[in-house]
Formats: sequence, C-alpha cells, structure tokens
Amino acid sequence: MKILVVGGGIAGLSVVSAMESSGAEITLIEKTNQWKPAGYVIGLWYNGIEILKDLNIYGPLEEKGHRNEFQETTDEYGTRLRKTDFAYLNNKYGTAVQFLHRKDLHEVLRNHTSRVQVNLGTTLKSVVERDDDVEVVFSNDTRHRYDLVIGADGINSQVRSFIFNSESPIIYDTEYMAFIAELSEVCPRGNIEMLGTGKIWGYYPISETECGIFASMRTDNCTLDEAPIDRLRSTFQNFGGYVPKTLRDLSNSTPIYSDSIKEVELQRWHTNRIILIGDAAHAMLPTTGQGVSAAIEDGYELGKRLFVKNQNHGFSDIFREFEKQRRAKIAPIQKRSRIANHVVMSGSRIICAARDALIKYGPRNSTTTVLDKFFRKQ
Ligand SMILES: Cc1cc2nc3c(=O)[nH]c(=O)nc-3n(C[C@H](O)[C@H](O)[C@H](O)COP(=O)(O)OP(=O)(O)OC[C@H]3O[C@@H](n4cnc5c(N)ncnc54)[C@H](O)[C@@H]3O)c2cc1C
Repeated sequence: MKILVVGGGIAGLSVVSAMESSGAEITLIEKTNQWKPAGYVIGLWYNGIEILKDLNIYGPLEEKGHRNEFQETTDEYGTRLRKTDFAYLNNKYGTAVQFLHRKDLHEVLRNHTSRVQVNLGTTLKSVVERDDDVEVVFSNDTRHRYDLVIGADGINSQVRSFIFNSESPIIYDTEYMAFIAELSEVCPRGNIEMLGTGKIWGYYPISETECGIFASMRTDNCTLDEAPIDRLRSTFQNFGGYVPKTLRDLSNSTPIYSDSIKEVELQRWHTNRIILIGDAAHAMLPTTGQGVSAAIEDGYELGKRLFVKNQNHGFSDIFREFEKQRRAKIAPIQKRSRIANHVVMSGSRIICAARDALIKYGPRNSTTTVLDKFFRKQ
C-alpha cells in the first residue's frame, strides 16, 4: 500500500507514527524547507498523552515542559476570580495537562518516522483522484501515484482546497499573538488567564523561568496596522498583574506568532481515497486548547484502522467509520469552544461583568467536573 501524507505537523507525524510498522510505503511531504521550531507553547492533555504512551514515545517528553498544578482566572487587573486546583485530576490521571514547547512534541514525533520517505520543501501542484489510485504532482513537477492521500496540512489545507474546491477556514474578528518570555515570577506551577473586555491574556509556564504567553483581542479592540509588539502594548496597557513587566521586557527581537482566530467545519472529511485529519478537517477555536490532542488522536485512530486493513480496497469504508467516530468526539468540543469564545471574547461590558461574576461565584468544581467527565470517556 502506497500512502502520501501531506503535512509534517502534529497530525501528519502522528498518523505516520501509528503506521510505522505496518509495512505500508509512506511518503510525507512538508512545505517548510527545514524542521524549524514554531516558537509557541501548547497544552497537551491527558487524552493526547495516553496515545503517546501507547505509541511508546511519551518517555522523552515526560521531563519536558510543565505539568499544570492549578489554573487561575483573574480579571484584567490581576484580581483573582477563581483558582482551580488540578491535584484531583493529576492524582487520578497522572497528568491532566502539560504545557510544552511545540518543538519538543514535534521532535519526539519526528524521531519516530525513520522508515518514512520525507520530502521537505515540497507541496502539491495537482491532485487527481481516480477509481484505482490518486495521481499527484509535487511542486518540483514530479508525478506520483498513491493508493491513498492523507491531508494533514493544517488550518489552511491545500488538500482540502483540491478535494472540496473552495472550502476555506471561517475567520473570526479576533487576533491572537503567542510568544515565549522569561518570567520566573509566574513560573512556579500553574497557569493564569486574565479576562478583559474583548481581550484575554494567558500565562502557560513551561519551566522554572520560561512562560508561553497567548494574548487574544477582538479586531475592534486594536489597531491592525500596528506592528504586533506595538499592538500588544497598546491593547493591553491597562492590564495589571505581570503584564506591564512582560510588555516592558518584550524586545523587538522576540519572535511573536500572530494570526486571526480561525476554525474549520466541513460537511465531509473524505472522498474515496483522500482524507483530511487534524486542523485540515476540524480546526477548533483555541478556547478549549484541544487542537494538538485532537490531531494526535486523529493520527492514531486513522493509522490503527489502516494498519489493520493494510490492503488496496475498501478505504472509503474505513474513512467513513473513522469520520463517524471522530466527529462524535470533535463536534461537542467545537461547540463548547464556540460558546466559550463567545463569552470570553465578548466586547460587551455587561456580558463580561456577568461572566466574571459567574466565574467568581458559580459552582466551585465545575472545571474539574467537566474535565473529569471528558477524560473518563477516553
Ligand atoms: C500560537 C498557537 C498556540 C496554540 N496552542 C494550543 C494549545 O495550547 N493546545 C492545543 O491543543 N492546541 C494549540 N494550538 C493549535 C494546535 O497547534 C493545532 O491544532 C495543531 O498543531 C494541529 O495539528 P495539525 O497537524 O493538524 O496542523 P499543524 O500542526 O499546523 O501542521 C500542518 C503542517 O502541514 C504543513 N503544510 C501546510 N500546507 C502544506 C502543503 N500545502 N504541503 C505540505 N505541507 C504543508 C505545515 O508546514 C505544517 O508542518 C495552538 C496553535 C497556535 C498557532
């Protein structure tokens, strides 16, 4: 069986890892010329960790990053609204959420792909699906045939645009910026999320001194033609806590990753021989922080199914089953992330005041209960 995986991100490398010893002939193409580390922090959840353990590749990650011990939510001035202790979840599940450099996770997955042909600096020129195979022309004009193609090429997927013509992501009127800062004051153990009106700022510790920062703002709350660093400074100038220090310490050389908030919702994720996984199929809003774990799960579930099948027909049945099972899990997360985004990023002072009161005075264990229920279903 000849398989082409398009995209060497989290989903692409996960499906390859799950199929490592399947005997399939796998080619992976990745548009970047070298594996360059994306400079942001991700939250890896219990559901993703369990799969990495099952694939026997979690070991090197165990000592990396930071196991979260608590989550604190504050208003924009840094006044605490709620603190959720993760002790119960960590005792029960080992690690509920671990904050990591994306590059560390990527490296571990990459080291598990030794039997795969990897072509860096390569994209697609055309994809033609036929009854018996898929004919693909790469950006270097070489022509190849595969039994199936897996589109794991992220939120702006090229495979998606080839198979479903003009399906593009939904773009929200919200921008985000992510960077890593030295901030030993915050770093000890937990993460802090600060909620303003139409803007949020989060600290996600990854070591004793380093913290990932994820700031998000409605576009009507900022000046889009400002450079990211200036936009951060002007949008969050009234924030309290550690934000003034973080903004003061920011230098022009700090890499800031920025984009609009986007999501992907498709009628179908596959044709007979081509399937989308990860963000290409179902990118979700960042409010639930499940994108990475969902990409790992997709890769693992699809890889397992193809591993068992490992023959040249009946892919559409496998794809149908895979999509059905994964949709049942993804759809509620996407729905929750939309509701959370609506409330968290609201530009209305009244809604934000109600939100803050609910967080402060609402049921104490709601976060733990929701996560516990979610993890129990894994
Ligand atoms: C700043 C930031 C913070 C985030 N924080 C979190 C978090 O805390 N928790 C969480 O769960 N998720 C988080 N996410 C989301 C998470 O990173 C994604 O959901 C996840 O990486 C999706 O994996 P993927 O493999 O589908 O896509 P990606 O990881 O984006 O990988 C896609 C790959 O395909 C390659 N590619 C693209 N187009 C082509 C092409 N035409 N040909 C060949 N290759 C191509 C890309 O270069 C890339 O390597 C965050 C994302 C960002 C940007």
